[in-house]
Amino acid sequence: MMETVGMVRIFQRSLSHRSVRYTSYIGDGDSKTFSSITASNPYGEDITVSKIECVGHVQKRMGTRLRKLKQMSSKLSDGKSIGGKGRLTDRMIDLITTYYGNTIRQNKTCLSDMRKAVWAVYFHIRSSDEEPLHSFCPVGPNSWCKYQNQVVEKSVETFRHNNKLPVAVMDAIKPVFNDLSQPKLLQKFLGGKTQNNNESINSLIWKLCPKTLGCGRKIVDISTNEAIVIFNDGNQGRLKIMQSLGLTVGQFAHKFVTLVDIKIIQTAEVHFNLRTKEVRHAKRMQFKTTCKKLTEKEGTSYACGEF
Ligand SMILES: [Zn+2]
Repeated sequence: MMETVGMVRIFQRSLSHRSVRYTSYIGDGDSKTFSSITASNPYGEDITVSKIECVGHVQKRMGTRLRKLKQMSSKLSDGKSIGGKGRLTDRMIDLITTYYGNTIRQNKTCLSDMRKAVWAVYFHIRSSDEEPLHSFCPVGPNSWCKYQNQVVEKSVETFRHNNKLPVAVMDAIKPVFNDLSQPKLLQKFLGGKTQNNNESINSLIWKLCPKTLGCGRKIVDISTNEAIVIFNDGNQGRLKIMQSLGLTVGQFAHKFVTLVDIKIIQTAEVHFNLRTKEVRHAKRMQFKTTCKKLTEKEGTSYACGEF
């Protein structure tokens, strides 16, 4: 609600305050904000605002849907459950989720290519020695598909599938691919935009008062104000708050916030430049542990990746 009111206000004042019209809006899929922006008609009837989806958000949706399927207790057509060794494991879910996000990013200029690429992921994983299904996979020696690589080398007869999933599991996850490959959804990713979490004030606010602690209104208000100060002026801005509260700010406080700000910039640069697999993996594992703890504590009412 707060986000909705704020965004509508930002659009309504853009012309008078900044002399610009924001014609594209990027936000997560479930947000009501966009409909409120269009309803407020900020630039009159002739200029409409279009919505662009964040690839990262829909990529997360793939993971969420598959994880939900994995919890399914009923047996599949082969009489076994969906999870377990050689079936839909967490590792496999991560892999499919990454592939799915990458195909969208790599085909951001053409809708039919994007759709074909999403299905290429599905059929590539479904492929077996008895039934290779790589016709959607990119061809050539530089393709990510090793089968297609060997087609070029004319040695495809010797190719053996080792990462495949059983047909029963593939049948079970097909509806997820079907839903997440709809042209209506995919067309929103043409352009392949992503929200940058490092620059998101939202994530900064929730860092100061984590959702998991159940903070009251007052704390959220204070955190929001503090986040705005940090977002605009870095941690240096916090010194101004201290000064206006009548606190004496000494040289150690100055030194401390300078160091913190430098560290934040350095960390952001490292993330941006290296995007190290290890860092991402460690973070994901930490996130999963937190999720697991929360689910154990709160039951299924708290589902990570669904807020
Ligand atoms: Zn393939």
